[in-house]
Amino acid sequence: MGMLPRELADLLESGGEPSYRGRQLFAALHARGAADYTGITVLPEGVRGRLAAEAAPPALTLAARRVDPLDGTVKYLFRLADGETVETVLMRYRFGYTACVSSQVGCRMGCRFCASTIGGLTRNLLAGEMTAQIAYLNRDLADPAHAGDTSWFPAPPRAGDEEEGEPETDAAGRPARFDRVGRLVVMGMGEPMENLDAVVRFLRVVHEPSGAGIGWRHMTVSTSGLVPEMDRLAEMELPITLAVSLHAPNDELRDGLVPVNRRHPLGELLAACRRYVERTGRRLTFEYILIDGVNDMPEHARELGRLLRGLPCHVNLIPMNPVAERRLYPSPPEAQTRFRGLLRGAGIPCTVRRQLGASIDAACGQLRRHVQAQGATAPGAVTEVEAVTEVEAATQVQE
Ligand code: SAH
Repeated sequence: MGMLPRELADLLESGGEPSYRGRQLFAALHARGAADYTGITVLPEGVRGRLAAEAAPPALTLAARRVDPLDGTVKYLFRLADGETVETVLMRYRFGYTACVSSQVGCRMGCRFCASTIGGLTRNLLAGEMTAQIAYLNRDLADPAHAGDTSWFPAPPRAGDEEEGEPETDAAGRPARFDRVGRLVVMGMGEPMENLDAVVRFLRVVHEPSGAGIGWRHMTVSTSGLVPEMDRLAEMELPITLAVSLHAPNDELRDGLVPVNRRHPLGELLAACRRYVERTGRRLTFEYILIDGVNDMPEHARELGRLLRGLPCHVNLIPMNPVAERRLYPSPPEAQTRFRGLLRGAGIPCTVRRQLGASIDAACGQLRRHVQAQGATAPGAVTEVEAVTEVEAATQVQE
């Protein structure tokens, strides 16, 4: 799942098959999201048999799935070959679907407001374990069994519910498609810069037009601010968006919220941001979680405005998703609006991100923690969690 078409072609060729078989296999795995080799009927039976015997199948199974009945956000908990679990979120916008992908099992960045980091880091994901997240979602979306099933993908976005300025077409003016993932953000569990090579391989594989076909400009990688890896990514000159999790306008506050700031303080981080913009010509995104009484006061907005002045960027203000283990809460709507107003007044483009999936533990690491707490990570426990959620979803949709 982590191999490019040419690499699969070489692999099959080395096994005595024509190289086009490798490209057929690639398309079957990534464009059609085949669950196993038996279903790839474009390949001769002998080839399928050899693959099943010699190459591990896409190793990712469903551990739990929750649908937010209000906004159609779907949260998946996937079990990997070694029994570990990771989360993926599918968000429905008017311009199509965006997948939020995990890059590690757990996380060791220690951010104060985040659920993913509570149990620490278990391991990096392989590139193939990231591409498999996209393939699974695409298979789900294209499955005719779910067509029109509102407990599966409910609630198309309502008018007036959309993100500010949210387009209904893609950059090329094509209408939104709702049978596949159109965009991705690496904002799930983990710190992608700690697993950069695998993440970049993942992006290259899902970019392939014969596979998932996700455009570079529809990809965002988010970091808590690992400066050397940000520089390394800049040198690759991929036309993707880099998002930086800022969350505070000064070192004192950021040291406490995002501990990596003690290693790479704001001055160093902002310098790396400027280098990124110079090198790639891409505008940056800054994420700023609004936490009640912590970082959402007028002086914080003014300080942030001064910090970012002159940097081509967009600030995404995110009402914090409350996490049971953390005693931090989202800013009230008035504080959000005031913060946005002050930042705009300082000439910094910004929007308040629409909160999706609040009723299904969609914030980083929450579903995984809940399922673990229920002792439901053992194989076979899936159905229970799933059944409950689907009934809940169906009921609420009817209401
Ligand atoms: N490690 C990377 C990417 C994963 S986190 C990073 O830090 O950017 C993706 C985003 O979700 C980050 O901006 C992170 O700070 C934010 N986040 C984490 N916990 C959150 C919560 N409880 N509410 C809102 N955003 C949260």
